[in-house]
Amino acid sequence: MDAGRSSSGPSAQQGGEAVAPSDSVAAALRAYGEDLTARGAAQVGGAFTGSRAADDLIKHSPEAFLLGVLFTQGVPAERAWAGPYLLKERLGHLDLHRLAVERDAVSAAVAGPPALHRFVKTLPRWVSAAAQRLIEEYHRSAAAIWPDGTPLPEVVRRLQRFDGIGPKKAVMAAEILVRHFGIALSDTCSGSVAYDVHVRRVFLRAGLVAEDTPQAIREAAAQACPEAPGTLDLATWLIGRDYCRPTEPRCDACRLGSVCPRLVHRTVTGVGSRFISRD
Ligand code: SF4
Repeated sequence: MDAGRSSSGPSAQQGGEAVAPSDSVAAALRAYGEDLTARGAAQVGGAFTGSRAADDLIKHSPEAFLLGVLFTQGVPAERAWAGPYLLKERLGHLDLHRLAVERDAVSAAVAGPPALHRFVKTLPRWVSAAAQRLIEEYHRSAAAIWPDGTPLPEVVRRLQRFDGIGPKKAVMAAEILVRHFGIALSDTCSGSVAYDVHVRRVFLRAGLVAEDTPQAIREAAAQACPEAPGTLDLATWLIGRDYCRPTEPRCDACRLGSVCPRLVHRTVTGVGSRFISRD
């Protein structure tokens, strides 16, 4: 491991002082993000889960996709995205009216055993509340949240009104809608990366930010990819999850390995540091 390396283009310094954003790192991240977009990648290699049937449900049902977003918290991504399919199997339906009013049945289905999620108390509430909101505000269609032409920030704002969807999950969902489903949202230059623990770790160690704050991450993403900062979201998250681990990062196998200053002494602390979403 080359913990103190500061070469190959990036202008980085040790000790937490300002680190100039690296054009090389930014270009490598952007290239990876564009590659993933071209491949329509969702979470891992173009698939949401390890199950074709579960993937098909997410891909063909906007309502299932929205429920999947609710599940993407505190559990591995593949398990989260399989949630709507398994919920449907247990309930025998994903009827919005029944999801909204048959709360005990939703709770029992989530609880299992085995449980579909860590949050066996809150997740069912989120599911029923989401179904109710879709009925009342979106004519029973989640796709009505994100019709073509809607500004990306507006979709993020709409998603955040759902119980269980905060800024991080809303940004992630909007980027997947654009990247994977080809929804023609406008104003994608206003998108960004999610303030996710993996994303933060990579931005810190790759020298794209000198401090771990939402604003610093957002500004660095906008600087690295001005036309569509959200393009970097999945690329950075995958690198953080698979290579830039909290301990024993795999720099030599990393997509950024040849250009990254490898500031591996840096790590995420404080808010969210112990909470790994989407993983
Ligand atoms: S794993 Fe990749 S992003 Fe993380 S420090 Fe190493 S080269 Fe940089």
